[in-house]
This record gives sequence, C-alpha cells and structure tokens, in this order.
Amino acid sequence: MVPLLDLAATTAEIREELEDVYARFLSSGQYVLGSEVEAFETEYASYCESNYCIGVSSGLDALHLALRAAGIGRNDEVIVASNTYIATWLAVTHTGATVVPVEPDPATHNIDPDLIAEKITHRTKAVLATNLYGLPVDYNEIHTICEAADIRFVVDNAQASGAKYRNRAVGGLASLECHSFYPSKNLGALGEAGAVTTCDQKLANQIRLLRNYGSRERYYHEAAGFNNRLDELQAGILRVKLRHLDKWNTRRKAVVSLYESDLQNVTGIILPRTRPYAESAWHQYVIRVTDRDRRLEQLNDAGIGCLVHYPIPPHRSGVYESMFSANQFPIANELANSVLSIPMGPHLSSSDAKLVAATLKRIVRQSNPEGGSAESRNAA
Ligand SMILES: *Cc1c(COP(=O)(O)O)cnc(C)c1O
Repeated sequence: MVPLLDLAATTAEIREELEDVYARFLSSGQYVLGSEVEAFETEYASYCESNYCIGVSSGLDALHLALRAAGIGRNDEVIVASNTYIATWLAVTHTGATVVPVEPDPATHNIDPDLIAEKITHRTKAVLATNLYGLPVDYNEIHTICEAADIRFVVDNAQASGAKYRNRAVGGLASLECHSFYPSKNLGALGEAGAVTTCDQKLANQIRLLRNYGSRERYYHEAAGFNNRLDELQAGILRVKLRHLDKWNTRRKAVVSLYESDLQNVTGIILPRTRPYAESAWHQYVIRVTDRDRRLEQLNDAGIGCLVHYPIPPHRSGVYESMFSANQFPIANELANSVLSIPMGPHLSSSDAKLVAATLKRIVRQSNPEGGSAESRNAA
C-alpha cells in the first residue's frame, strides 16, 4: 500500500526534536500566544521575506482576518478562482462580501490573470488568488491588474509554503498572504494552525487585534474581534518543522522528476504544467485522466492511495449552489471531473514512486488499448 501522504513518517523523522518541544511546553506554564508564538512569527516572517507574521488558529481564520483587516465587508466583491478549495470562498462569505469567481488556466490550474480585469466592478475590493497545489500564481501580472484598479492583492498560500516566485519566497509578495498549517500541508502542525504575512504594519496590527477579541490592551476592546489565537505547542512544533521544510520540499521535487520521466507521453495522462517564473512547493501532484472515477477506483484497488482535489467545485457546493448555475464555470467543472492527486510527500520513497507510476501506466494503457482516444490526445 502506498499512501497519498505518509504523515507518520514525517513525524518519526523529527520525533526527538518534537519531544523536546513537548517537554519545554509542559514546563513553560504558557500555553497560548507566548514566546514560542512570537519566535515562530519572527522566523516565518523571515522565511517568507516579509516584515510581519501573525500566527492564527487556522488557514480559514488567516483568510478571514486578512480580508477583514483590509476593510472588506458587506456590499464588497472579492475575485476568487472558480476551482479553489472551498475555504477561499468561505472566508469572503464570512466577511459579508460576495465571491466573484474567475476561471483558471487549465494548464496551471491557477486563476487566469487574463480573465480578472473584466470581472472588476466599482464594488471589487480585492483579488484573492490561490497558489493551488503549491504552484505560485503570476504575482507580477496580478499585482499590475490590482494596482491599476486600486484594489488589494491577497494570496491564499495554504498549499505553497516554501514555493518561490522569480527566486523570491512566496508570503512576502502580495499585500496580504495567508497560510495554513493544517497537518497535511507542506508545513504542517500537529493540530490546527495558520498565519498571515504582510509587509504593511497597519494591516499586521489590525490582524493582531482581530485574532485576540479586538484587544490590544487587556480589558479594552477596540474592535469586534474573534478568538483566532495560535497556541504555544503548535508554534513550537512549527518552529522545528520550518527548519526541515526546504529539505522536504526538495524531496518532493525529486518525486516529481521521477513521475515526469516515467509518465511523460503516456496517452490518457496529462501531467501538471509548471511555469518558468515559479518554483512549485508540490503540495499535491495532480494529473488529469479520462474516466477519472474509474481510474481512482482501480488505483485504490491496486494499493495506491489517490484522492481528488476537488470533485465538487465551490459553485456546486450546497452553500453556493443557489447563487450560481451548475454549468456556469465549465473549466472548473471539467477539472473537477478529470483531476487526480497521486501520492506525493517528503517521505515517499523512489521505489514507491516508481511503483505508483508503473501501476498508473498499466491501468491507463489497459483502458486505452489502441493508444488512447482522440479526446485524450486533444486534451493534452
Ligand atoms: C487547507 C486550505 C485552506 C484552509 O486551511 P485550514 O487550516 O484547513 O483552515 C484554505 N485554502 C486552501 C487552498 C487550502 O488548501
């Protein structure tokens, strides 16, 4: 059995360092927003080449507080990708603003910058772009669009910790960048955690306020804030894992090279595309196949742990289905029907990756005995 992601192996590699964190934590007497959180914030801001990092309780909370700090609320519109994870949309909805979905470029799966400008109205306050599956969006292009329209550029970087854009760290490039440290992310806590990075001191202060009941001074509440604090234990764990992140992302790249050499030019499989400006963090390795649900079943039966990110685009989820028609975003729909995430992670061995590729090739070839359908060739 090859799992989609082997989290236990990651924990095992650094077990002793984690036990030190636990020991320090147990004797500290400080459990929420203390010195570990402060140290992590300093270290992660520096890793992201950003000025400020505010640790919060999850990626969704990071997005929500970032949008609130930017003053986004009722009657405002925020542009999002039509094929992102639901949290991106939910954060907008939680502020009272309206989501305005824009289709992705099917080659990169990231929001198509060429389609953004036409969706900007007098109500648009921000573009909230997702670095999906670890691949950075074209920051320069989106920045130019946002600057021209005088709106904010916010990034959902939940899936791309450690990625680079034109040799610069993501996290320090847009006005606000939001990170998730959910356990399965590239930088994962052993529980819930997230952060916002920004170079703007005012925004940073506002987020600090909002995460802690709207309070800067004890007993005085300037804003209707939330309890979105980061706890000491998770911060301590994240500090340890941050020191391993680059090495782990490099191992992910080695798996990608292996997949690329074994799966290139296989009829019926479309491999993920990269872009010269981007160094992906390879959070997921997402291929596209025809008859995806059947392929998924066959792979799982063969002991290869695969999943779909995501089978239902946000506009067809119950929460949004009354706002949009099901066929309104054909690219998101097409991707939802064809994407398949195959095993990826820093602890996937080369032999297991080879096994994944060989099994996948066998299954796809069996279903395309004459070299594949015209449809799959054209889709490539
Ligand atoms: C995981 C994820 C989030 C939410 O992060 P949580 O920590 O689970 O709240 C938001 N956006 C994207 C794209 C994600 O993958």
